[in-house]
Order: sequence, then structure tokens, then C-alpha cells
Amino acid sequence: MEFQRLEQLKAEIGNASPDQVLDLQDVIQAVISQQVAEIALARRTQSRIQSKTCPHCRGVDVVLHGKDKNGRQRFRCRGCRRTFNILTGTPMPGFAVMRQT
Ligand SMILES: [Zn+2]
Repeated sequence: MEFQRLEQLKAEIGNASPDQVLDLQDVIQAVISQQVAEIALARRTQSRIQSKTCPHCRGVDVVLHGKDKNGRQRFRCRGCRRTFNILTGTPMPGFAVMRQT
């Protein structure tokens, strides 16, 4: 979804009635359960962007470094010059999210 469209949607949700909000909550909950793995990765990505900590040297001079072949954010540490993604240091660094259909 485009950024502008999402912002419009958020503004429209602000005008929804209580019944409509409950309906929307059900829709969002269903989407969350369908996309649980993707959402967990998105949370990890946002957390990494905020903490800017290198998993190799614990340095904090970390910059965004494009996306990998699975579309995940990559990072580069200016301290040790190594690159990593949000799964580096976990048991599944090459994990590719499978979409549930
Ligand atoms: Zn580092």
C-alpha cells in the first residue's frame, strides 16, 4: 500500500463509529494472524533501526545497507565494516518467510 493511501486510511479510521472500529479490529487481528512471521520480522527490523547496534562488535555506528534477495533490510556497521540483517546471530540467518495462504 502506498504511504499516502495508508495515511488517508488512518485519517478515515479516526472518523469511524465504535461499531466500525470493532469491525476493523477483527479485520486487523485476522491480518496479524495471517502475517505473524512477517510482522515479527518487521518489528525486529524497526527495533534494530532504533537500537542501531551491531550484532558482531556491539558498535552503535550502524547504517542502512539496502535489501537482501528476500527483501529484508540489511545493515552495515561503520565500526567493524561488517554487514548483517535482522536475523544475524539467530539460528536462522537465511530464513525466508513463507506466506500462509
Ligand atoms: Zn560492528
